[in-house]
Amino acid sequence: MKTEQYIKNYINGTLQPAESTEFIENYDPSTGQVYSYIPDSDSRDVDKAVEAAQKAFPAWSVMHPQKRFRILMRIADIIEQHLDLFAEAESRDSGKPLSLSSTVDIPRSHDNFRFFATSLLHYSSESHNMPGQAINYTLRQPIGVVGCISPWNLPLYLFSWKIAPALATGNCIVAKPSELTPMTAFLLSKACQEAGLPPGVLNIVHGLGSKAGQAIVEHNDVKAISFTGGTNTGRKIAAVAAPNFKKLSLELGGKNPNIIFEDCDFDEMMIHTLRSSFSNNGQICLCGSRILVQRGIYDKFKDEFVKRVQFMKVGNPFNSVSDLGAVVSKEHKEKVLAYIALAEMEGGKILCGGKPMEMKGEFANGYYLKPTVIEGLPNQCRTNQEEIFGPVVTIQAFDTEEEAIALANDVEYGLAATVWTTDINKSQRVAQQLDTGIVWINCWMVRDLRTPFGGMKNSGVGREGGLEAMRFFTEPKNVCIKYS
Ligand code: NAD
Repeated sequence: MKTEQYIKNYINGTLQPAESTEFIENYDPSTGQVYSYIPDSDSRDVDKAVEAAQKAFPAWSVMHPQKRFRILMRIADIIEQHLDLFAEAESRDSGKPLSLSSTVDIPRSHDNFRFFATSLLHYSSESHNMPGQAINYTLRQPIGVVGCISPWNLPLYLFSWKIAPALATGNCIVAKPSELTPMTAFLLSKACQEAGLPPGVLNIVHGLGSKAGQAIVEHNDVKAISFTGGTNTGRKIAAVAAPNFKKLSLELGGKNPNIIFEDCDFDEMMIHTLRSSFSNNGQICLCGSRILVQRGIYDKFKDEFVKRVQFMKVGNPFNSVSDLGAVVSKEHKEKVLAYIALAEMEGGKILCGGKPMEMKGEFANGYYLKPTVIEGLPNQCRTNQEEIFGPVVTIQAFDTEEEAIALANDVEYGLAATVWTTDINKSQRVAQQLDTGIVWINCWMVRDLRTPFGGMKNSGVGREGGLEAMRFFTEPKNVCIKYS
């Protein structure tokens, strides 16, 4: 297995160019150079993919669970066998350090396949007895052809997080990875071929969201859409899907608070707050971007945090000493810089960073930014309300528990929050009042794949993970049998 300069769609089990025969340039963020080409697919490719999926559905949906399980496990094994290849492709496409791709992104991708492969063997449904009258049982059947659309920040990790449960429950898929990070999805097509996945069960169509993505969402025969990406895109998708009564799962943006109380374990908090702020250049939907610190330790926190941020190494993602690689694209780098300029206009003080990282040689045109810490902004300003999705955090002081909760909830988003305190009672009081789908107490990004994953408010609709995903990708049907 290898990467190729010309990526192909995976439709009906074969690798093929887009009907348009056009390509989109794919940039390596670490150098700013084009290094591969993506099929510029449109509704014709999506039509072909849906047709292939429909043809594959009758056999796949009734395949013996053991057989389906074995195919999914083989896909996982192939990804794991080629971990280095997948990890390198992920870093080349996204600019993230190889140390992250090889220890987080790719291992989690094969784990997703294994997790849902084994889930399908254990999945069961309810029955409801009406004594002396009837018994009801819930039949959970696959939906049919479903659409899976994913973003660039955790490319294969999030792509497989949707594809694996959809396949496990017996659906056939038309999927689209982000046009910014298509390579590992292309490698996944090859892994599926090698694993013996029947043609048409999974189809991967590459291309732009406004063209290929939109065509998947609009297609009448795509019965459900599982989408992860920006809130505005989610809104557009919902507007198309809702009048057609498609089942929808939307995992959207965030503006996550880190609430740090005076009684926290300071050293432990510091290590994880650095991670939650700048892992993957802050380009993880779960990163904490608003750091709320209780006033008694505000100065101590600020001094230590800024000192450690200044020590972080930004550089070539393939160099093992780089803590931060490149951000995903030139446009994204400019967007983040525009937010830093906005923060200054809004009265914020840049405590460190705030600028591009100048690089030399082949990396001189890469998209590098210095990790940035800003203070002095009110919570209601745009910098503290809008998702920046880059290596930028703000810090704010608070006095009381009530104030911390009010600040944390005072945004349109509600994805995740982190709480640092050694008082177990306080941690529970706060967790229960936060309007977020996920709360981490004294930790960050500790993930059990069985737990419900998703956000409230503008961060999304529905939940992924464990049973939630198995339920999303199945249609419950109540069957009632009368007896006497
Ligand atoms: P995006 O919304 O621009 O794109 C996501 C995907 O949707 C891409 O594949 C894109 O091609 C496609 N797309 C774009 N327009 C479309 C349309 N009209 N119809 C159908 N598909 C379309 O998001 P992005 O910039 O790739 O990703 C970053 C965003 O994703 C951030 O907001 C981040 O918070 C969010 N995100 C959320 C989670 C979560 O679990 N809640 C996880 C990761 C990322």
